[in-house]
Order: sequence, then structure tokens, then C-alpha cells
Amino acid sequence: MLRTHNCGELRIEDVNKQVTLCGWVQKVRDKGGMIWIDLRDRYGITQLVFDESKSSKNVIQVARSLGREFVIQSSGTVLERYAKNDKISTGSIEIEVDKIEILNPSKVPPFTIEDETDGGDELRMKYRYLDIRRMPVRQNLELRHRMLQQTRKYLDSQHFMEVETPFLIKSTPEGARDFVVPSRVNQGEFYALPQSPQTFKQLLMVSGIDRYFQIVRCFRDEDLRADRQPEFTQIDCEMSFITREDILNTFEGLIRYLFDRVLNYKVGEVARMSYDHAMQYYGNDKPDTRFDMLLVELNDIVQGKGFMVFDEAELVAGISVPGCADYSRKQLDALTDFVKRPQIGANGLVYVKYNEDGTLKSSVDKFYSEEELKLWTDKMNANPGDLLLILSGAKEKTRSALSELRLKMGTDLELRNRNEYKVLWVLDFPLLEWDQDTKRYHAMHHPFTSPKIEDVDRLESNPSIVKANAYDMVINGVEIGGGSIRIHDKSLQQKMFRVLGFTEEEAAKQFGFLMNAFEFGAPPHGGIAFGFDRLCALFGGSESIRDYIAFPKNNSGRDVMIDSPSTISLEQLDELGISLKK
Ligand code: ASP
Repeated sequence: MLRTHNCGELRIEDVNKQVTLCGWVQKVRDKGGMIWIDLRDRYGITQLVFDESKSSKNVIQVARSLGREFVIQSSGTVLERYAKNDKISTGSIEIEVDKIEILNPSKVPPFTIEDETDGGDELRMKYRYLDIRRMPVRQNLELRHRMLQQTRKYLDSQHFMEVETPFLIKSTPEGARDFVVPSRVNQGEFYALPQSPQTFKQLLMVSGIDRYFQIVRCFRDEDLRADRQPEFTQIDCEMSFITREDILNTFEGLIRYLFDRVLNYKVGEVARMSYDHAMQYYGNDKPDTRFDMLLVELNDIVQGKGFMVFDEAELVAGISVPGCADYSRKQLDALTDFVKRPQIGANGLVYVKYNEDGTLKSSVDKFYSEEELKLWTDKMNANPGDLLLILSGAKEKTRSALSELRLKMGTDLELRNRNEYKVLWVLDFPLLEWDQDTKRYHAMHHPFTSPKIEDVDRLESNPSIVKANAYDMVINGVEIGGGSIRIHDKSLQQKMFRVLGFTEEEAAKQFGFLMNAFEFGAPPHGGIAFGFDRLCALFGGSESIRDYIAFPKNNSGRDVMIDSPSTISLEQLDELGISLKK
């Protein structure tokens, strides 16, 4: 090897050893008689020192010619450092260099390769290979690596078999658009890239694989929202001969194991909550349960008093924000502006200040007496000093706006502790959702999800009330994984396709292979998939999944480093039998 040690390895015990290191020049400090160089590699930084009075002319000359990011090999003696640096692991030693060789020079990098860099996002993405030389980025990839290894270790210990499934397939049922790949050999025909290996993992259950997993890339051609990637990684799993309970326990086990092994964090009780409960009390299906401030519905006590806004609303509901009764006009205006933002969409905000002295002051004093307002504070379990914030309107919209307001207040009041992880199962989702545009039901999860057995009879008569045997794992308000017990019976599957508005021919064309397989002894089965990039971001304490992907795409789905997507040559198009619209 070209080196005896790496740049993060040498300690005070190594003093007097002869060593050879390789790495990149991070910094050169030339103080006349002495030159210091910070040499960096994946493992750390080691200080090299050149003393003009001791080293050969040639060595000094090479040292003086070095620029940032030159790749060098240098040999010398480990010395105890006079001024120690306790910020780095090698800070008590330095290398007195007697031999140096430039292995490769470097152009001046477009941004500083240090923990704090002057490079903007786009520039760092363009030169992502340089960005990855920076310690924080490398540490993120290291975290991802540890998560990958521990995931495999746990699932292997539970007898899951890792099986790879193809990327060139046909449409899968996750509800997004497919990326398509034209076939040269079969002109006019196209593969689709998998949105997930859903159908294959179910086929593997028919094959008797019993416990399958794959850490797998999935592709979804969705409109890009912040922090979405067109390709992302899932921990994809499926099990046979199990109940929902077995799945919840097995994968609660995986998450506990990862927190323990990777963060040395012991996850407490994993709570369970129905979808209906989550929607009613948190306003969304991925509640952050690190704090309360639950939504309280107020229709029965606020309506019929002459305040039209409330009287006409499908839902009036509020939250009681602890200790904020002394909010100023300005603060309240800012909250009103917040809920009126188009992304949140509320028309206005009603407040009630429950003052410390027990008096009440509200923005709707004209319509409600103090006794009436007292009923509100009672129903909301408010204490003196609390501020009630109330929204009204259509049910879903009001819930979702209140949910945003609740999260904002949780953040403002520092109730969302970054070092605490609350793991939650959300259960019993609706099986179907009505789509106003297409006037059809869509599967809320995907069409292979089993209805709850007790609801099967209502599938055709009253589809909207049917619950799914589906579950999501939510951590600190982030949806980390989701799955379901599957339909394994051909006639129920056919019924489901009917409810979803597929003709028999359409269903057969798209998913006939699966329904045929179900005729050859499909075992009862179910599974789950975790968003691996998001799980890494959660473990790393970052909001952005991009930070945990080696070569991510930007917000418009571009890889600015390799400049993709890009056009292809006319010859390529010809071979594929494709002509482009002018
Ligand atoms: N294939 C599903 C998804 O990607 C997960 C599952 O049902 O196992 O969301």
C-alpha cells in the first residue's frame, strides 16, 4: 500500500514511528522557516510540518509548490505537538516530513473543502465528488452505511431473505406516474421502472420465500415537491403466514434495533392510533406525538349564536396553546397571516385569551359572552394563561390548517425536541379515497391492500366507509414506512379492481400475472416498506433527504453534475423508433 497509516489514526503513543501518509492538501501555512500542511483523507486530518533548517531543499521546494487539493504521499517521523489541538483526533501529534511526492496536482477547487464551506447548493451539487470530501457530507454517508449494515443484520437474524427484483418491468400500482424506458428490440413497446417491487414481492410469497426483503431503488415520476427525489431507496419487506400483529412487532423490532445500534437510543413504548383518531385530534395522518395541544371540536357550543362564520362552517375546532395568553396584537396578526397563507388556506383566525386572572378576551367578543367563552375553555381543557386559537370551515381543510398551526406553535414553543423520538403506528386507514377530478375511487394505499375482514361485505355497497388492514409508521410527525395485509384471494382482488373502476380486461392486462399467480396457492401475506433516505435523515437530525444521498437530483429533478436528463442522438431515437414532436 502507498501508506502505513491513514490521516485520522496516529496518536501520542505513535511518537517516534516512521510513517507514510497519503491524502489531499487541505491547507498550507508558510511561516518562512516553517511550513505546516493539513493533510486530509476519509479518516481525518493530520498535520505535516516542514522545518527549513532540517529538511532537504528539495522537500521544502515541493512543499512550497503545493496547492489546495493536491494529492500527495509523504513520509516522516511522528512528533509530539507543541501546541495541541483537541478538536481533532490526531491533534496531539504531527509528522516531521523528510520525503514528499506529489501523486497528482489539482485545479483550485470551486469552493472550500471544509466543514463550513463557501459553496452554494447548486455549485456543490455540480461538484458533488468534491462536496463528498467534506467531513459533514462524508459523515452522512457513513451514517447511511451503518443503517444499511444494521438493517441487513437485523432482517437476516429474523430469517428474511434478500432477493433482487427487476428494474425493467411494467407499471406498478403505487399511484404515481411511471418512468418509462423504450425498448429497442421491441419497438413501440416500453418498460416502466418500478415505483416499488410491490407485485414481485407478493409473487415471491406465492413462491414460498416466506420472508423477503430488499433495500431497493424505487422510481416515481411525481411533480417535484421540496425534498422529494425521483429515485429513492426503500427497505422493502414481505412476510407470509402472519397477522398484522406479527408485522407490527417485527418492524417495531427493526426500528428499535436501528435506534439502539446506530444512535444508542432506546425507543420507549410504540403507541398505536387509528387513522380516525389521528385526523380528529391532530388534523393529519402523521401526527407528531412529542407534544399534545390536541384539536378540540367546538361546533356544539359555538354554533347558533349569530356568528355567521362559525354557523356556516362544517367544522369549528381549536387548539389551546399553553402560556401564550399574553401574545401581543402583532404576534396574533402574525399567526393570522400564517394561517391565511395559500399553502395553509384558512380564511381567518379567532383567538381567545384566557388571562392569568381568569378573565377572557377574544376577537369575537361581540358574539359571545364571557360565560359562553368559559364553556370553550372548559371544553378545551385550557388553563389560565393559555391562548385558544380557533379555525373554521370545511372539515378536511380546517383540520389540515389547524394541524399546520399546531406544528408551528409546537416549534415556536420548543416542544419538538430533536433528541427525542416518538414512534407511532397509525392503523385502520380508509381503503379508498374519492377523487373528485376523475370521479372514481382510488386505493389509498394500493389495490392489493386487504379491507378489514369485517368490512368486506360493504366493499361494493358502501365503499367509502370500508377500512383497510393497513398501517403506517410515523416518527416525530414524519411518515417513515407503510404497508398492509394483502388480498390473497382472486375473487376479492377482482372485486377490488371493480370498485376501483377497472374493467375485467384492464385489470387482466395490467395485473393478470398476479391474479393468475393467486390461483396457484397464494399464502396469506402482508408487508411494509420504509423510506430509507428519510429514515437516515431522521437519524442524522436533518430535514433533507438529499444530504444522505451520494448523488442526489436537484428540486427540478436534474442531476447537475452529469447534466441529466439530456437529449439523445437522432441515431438513438431512430433505433428506438421514436420521433419527437417538433
Ligand atoms: N409498496 C408499498 C409502498 O411503496 C409498501 C407496501 O405496501 O409494502 O408504499
